[in-house]
Amino acid sequence: MTEESDDIWKELAEIPADPPEMRDQCSQCRRPITVCWCPGLPKTRLCPQSRLIILQHPAEVKRCLRTAPMLSLSLEQNKCLVFRGKKFSSKHEDLMEILKDKDTILLYPSADAVDINELPKVGVNGQRPYNLVLLDGTWPQAKAIYHSTPYLSQLRACKLVQSMASSYVIRTQPTEGCLSTLESGAFSLAILENQPWYKDAMLGPLHYLCKFQLENGAVTHQSKEFLIKQKTYPKLVGKRLARQLKINSNELHN
Ligand SMILES: [Zn+2]
Repeated sequence: MTEESDDIWKELAEIPADPPEMRDQCSQCRRPITVCWCPGLPKTRLCPQSRLIILQHPAEVKRCLRTAPMLSLSLEQNKCLVFRGKKFSSKHEDLMEILKDKDTILLYPSADAVDINELPKVGVNGQRPYNLVLLDGTWPQAKAIYHSTPYLSQLRACKLVQSMASSYVIRTQPTEGCLSTLESGAFSLAILENQPWYKDAMLGPLHYLCKFQLENGAVTHQSKEFLIKQKTYPKLVGKRLARQLKINSNELHN
């Protein structure tokens, strides 16, 4: 090898496998620093006995505000597994193992789904920790995953029935009463593990985002305007709040 080619190899070897991180991007949540929600995460990751198994529609990854990363970062690593796909078959061996477990349950409002409150709590009457399967995506995407993955309809299904989310302004789904993946995971774990405090601890990132945007005087009207234009706000905070922000933003201009 010539000295020259030697140099080329050296240079090639130094190119990072992953593209360099964007400046001003949070290394943890990978969002721009201005909309990073990490300060809202629990101080120490929660370690429930049960596990969350998230089946994520590939399109979900492209959405502006994804809440599944909030779930995975608020839980111990082995307590939140994410599988990505539009449908799941025996090719997904690790997942199949989990789906065969008799303590695996699915959060999905199918006809035979029971109120999650009716399931035995972990540790009561010898109930073992659950694997709770969540479908992550918009409602039509979640439905599509359910219908193209026959294994799912064989699981015990449960649903969240009380309107627990009514006190939260945050909506990432267009339908009233439709919860984000974060809310679904947090509420379910709180019930199954009988640890009501999980709810607030896990919803921290969403609260943080909301509180920050609403209370922080440092947020300029310019960035508010930007967010409204990007349609981040309406998705994140719901119609009523978005309207309010729009009014404020107009006032700033007049
Ligand atoms: Zn962050």
